[in-house]
Amino acid sequence: MRAVTYVRNETVEVQEKPKPEIQPDEILLKVTGAGVCHSDLAIINLGDDSPLIGSTLGHEVAGTVAELGDQVSGWQVGEAGPVSLILSCGQCRECLAGRDNNCEVAYPRGALAPRSPGIGSPGGWPTGCAPGRVRLVRGRDGAPPASAG
Ligand SMILES: [Zn+2]
Ligand SMILES: [Zn+2]
Repeated sequence: MRAVTYVRNETVEVQEKPKPEIQPDEILLKVTGAGVCHSDLAIINLGDDSPLIGSTLGHEVAGTVAELGDQVSGWQVGEAGPVSLILSCGQCRECLAGRDNNCEVAYPRGALAPRSPGIGSPGGWPTGCAPGRVRLVRGRDGAPPASAG
């Protein structure tokens, strides 16, 4: 797949990357839309020492399910939805209480921000399929998302 990669300060490139192999609890998403926001512009200006250099950007993403891991339930291949900005675990006390933005796994105490796709984890600016550990959100009208962000 082709992916927008943060290669150095103020520079991104479209690079060819292998299609990700999903884990049993992951979804492979075919991206149909990915937004660009001020956070992306801030990220690509973090300097040449940024730990995000080399990563695939894109945290405002929507798409359709391309593949399902064996342990994923409640989704079918071809279903569409936007991706949650927060990579929550869905199992901890905070997640079970509906406060996934405070997930004890994805957002440990002392962290600057919760983990998100495109910010420390592979993001959704590919032209093919985005990896893996994402949480899709069901749309209200069931319409496939044409854009995100
Ligand atoms: Zn954003
Ligand atoms: Zn959690």
